[in-house]
Amino acid sequence: MAGRKILIIEDEPDIVELIRYNLEKQGYETDTAGDGRVALEKLHKGNYDLIILDLMLPEIDGLELCRIVKADRALSHLPIIMLTAKSEEVDKVLGLELGADDYVTKPFSPRELLARVKAVLRRTAERPPEGKVVRIGDLKIDKETYRVTKRGVPINLSSTEFNLLLYLAERKGKVFSRDYLLDAVWKGETFVEPRTVDVHIRRLRTQIEDDPSKPVYIKTRRGVGYYMEGEL
Ligand code: CA
Repeated sequence: MAGRKILIIEDEPDIVELIRYNLEKQGYETDTAGDGRVALEKLHKGNYDLIILDLMLPEIDGLELCRIVKADRALSHLPIIMLTAKSEEVDKVLGLELGADDYVTKPFSPRELLARVKAVLRRTAERPPEGKVVRIGDLKIDKETYRVTKRGVPINLSSTEFNLLLYLAERKGKVFSRDYLLDAVWKGETFVEPRTVDVHIRRLRTQIEDDPSKPVYIKTRRGVGYYMEGEL
């Protein structure tokens, strides 16, 4: 993970310095921007792997900047970790809705921030390639409209079924355990048991398979988990 370039967008010099020092100690490259306008200029010129974004900024505030970055096709893939103060709880939620990947509340320890940076970079490294439509056999999965069709016929899926299908389809051929899928698709929702995955797989199969008892799309690897057939 070292060698990744991180843009720190923050106007308080002491905090910038604290973050910069600790990131560089871990082998990350850093760059800094003291306001939103400079940040945007740098983002368009530089090649960054992650943004650390303070919410309270002069010129363009952090939320607005987050919105701009996520709406910009050239930048939207960039993961964002927001820095927030306790009093900005509402903004934090809004930021996550706008597409920020994680947040750290001030005051934070360098160790906490580094852990988040590491985790977000690891997660985004596993991100599937960009693209609006995923095709598998006769299935077409549209990531923008959340529509799934089979041979042109719409298939109605719940949002969880959709997310599960998309997750497997974008990683076809790879086997995932139920626990792994729970983490990846349900993202730590409480009161969800591994059995829930089986239930959703079964429902998905009745929707997308010609013969759900002999699935050709979503396969079971006995004792391990599920996978999307890679040879379709
Ligand atoms: Ca600030």
